[in-house]
Amino acid sequence: MSPQSLTLTNELHQYIVDTGIREPQVLAELRARTAQHPQQRMLLSPEQGQLMSMLVKLLGARRTLDVGTFTGYSSTVVALALPDDGEVISCDVNEQDTTVAQEFWRRAGVESKVDLRLAPALGTLDGLIEDGESSTFDFSFIDADKGNYINYFQRSLELVRVGGVIAVDNTLWSGRVLEADPEHGTTVSIKAFNDYAHAEQRVELVMVPVGDGLTLARKIR
Ligand code: CA
Repeated sequence: MSPQSLTLTNELHQYIVDTGIREPQVLAELRARTAQHPQQRMLLSPEQGQLMSMLVKLLGARRTLDVGTFTGYSSTVVALALPDDGEVISCDVNEQDTTVAQEFWRRAGVESKVDLRLAPALGTLDGLIEDGESSTFDFSFIDADKGNYINYFQRSLELVRVGGVIAVDNTLWSGRVLEADPEHGTTVSIKAFNDYAHAEQRVELVMVPVGDGLTLARKIR
């Protein structure tokens, strides 16, 4: 058997959460709040959040995109990692979820760094490109409707600078990417995105088996 990533048991995952990261209190509270949400499975795992925080700091990121706000975990974790003049443009269409996000941006003291765009994300991203903001972003996190993943990725590739990183969530989709002939449209979309990203020569990429699968793509040209 070739070396591969460990399959995490619940106990091993808990060990990582207890011993391998330090999740800020405000994020733990946001996690608790989102646990009551009917779609709480959409929440990032704490170690994935801390990986993204580390990545944003290592990149020296200042301008970032957040495609899919939900209750604000990813935008808060990124905003906390940014310098005081950092910026997160966070895109969503759901007023109710983003009200929770706004509360937690305030509680985390990052509300001045987050710019919520309550509109279809594709229009927001196209607007940024039209406004001449191509190659001005350092990081983009994509975690929204999977049918648009290729579109969000293409726009992010335009908006992120060379050397910047695009992180795409749920790319293992609970393992359903292995289905040869998937019935579910979301599985089809995620598989199509994974093939697209794999063939895209303007990025180097690594699919990280954290959370539900996180693909990191670094723009190289
Ligand atoms: Ca997700």
